[in-house]
Amino acid sequence: MPTFPFSAIVGQDEMRQALLIAAVDPAVGGVLVFGDRGTGKSTAIRALAALLPPMAAVIGCPYNCDPASPADLCPHCAAGGPRKSQKKPVPVVDLPLGATEDRVVGTLDLERALSAGVKAFEPGLLARANRGFLYIDEVNLLEDHLVDLLLDVAASGVNTVEREGLSLRHPARFVLVGSGNPEEGELRPQLLDRFGLACEVATPTDIATRIAVVRARDAYERNPDGFCAAHAKDDAAIRKRIEAARKRLPSVTVPDAALEQAARLCLALGTDGLRGELTLMRTARALAALDGATTVTDDHLRRIAPAALRHRLRRNPLDESGSTVRVERALAEVFA
Ligand SMILES: [Zn+2]
Repeated sequence: MPTFPFSAIVGQDEMRQALLIAAVDPAVGGVLVFGDRGTGKSTAIRALAALLPPMAAVIGCPYNCDPASPADLCPHCAAGGPRKSQKKPVPVVDLPLGATEDRVVGTLDLERALSAGVKAFEPGLLARANRGFLYIDEVNLLEDHLVDLLLDVAASGVNTVEREGLSLRHPARFVLVGSGNPEEGELRPQLLDRFGLACEVATPTDIATRIAVVRARDAYERNPDGFCAAHAKDDAAIRKRIEAARKRLPSVTVPDAALEQAARLCLALGTDGLRGELTLMRTARALAALDGATTVTDDHLRRIAPAALRHRLRRNPLDESGSTVRVERALAEVFA
């Protein structure tokens, strides 16, 4: 069955915006998606990956090395001669909840160690996710040390393995997408803060949207190929928008006035450190690039602020309102 088209997703605007931003600038950090089950979180990620332009990857390389980027080659490709490549779809790797650290980072290939007596590395999920997406359903149920490790690798783009007599570094640039249900355990604030964006998804409550969701799902399941063909043009338009935004991104400017507003907003919310401002700046820049703009404006900041800040708020015992309400209140104050 072909992947559900991204352009056919009804509603979930905030999640779609966050994913598009991460596709334009993976450096904005991971995306957290909180909300009910069955709201199409995993569908949206697969849909986005499927519409991205296929990537050139070295044939036979377990890390999907990019032949055009010699600085990022794995030890295997770096040592080899001329490299042949082929186009591959952008990977979406699922990290199952029970995954061991070995399975995630990779481990000693025991079979080869025993049969041939060589210390070979068996790449893990981080290798497969290179240049794509790593998706964790119910990230709040994953052990803290694994989440920590994933965030470290996602931030550096390199997986460093030093274990069982192995010493190896390989490229691992991916967008970390974690979904979770806030009622089933919480992420530590220190981990929350390291995700770039956090969005909330909910089952739609208005009748018209519910009908549209059900109709789209039904049409897709009855005739997947026809449904995808009907949305191919819209998906292609989104692909072009992402490609154009990636090209434009380095030249998008962030005026001091925008940074001042970002600082005011973070001060009004009492976020810790400067990560809030940094994320606001980076994500607003990617959003401006997606819009075809050359400069970040207040409008970009306002549109991205809830997703960039809601997971960085300190608990305020005197204010029991939800984090989204608090961000919206601060926005109204700062942009009055
Ligand atoms: Zn390689």
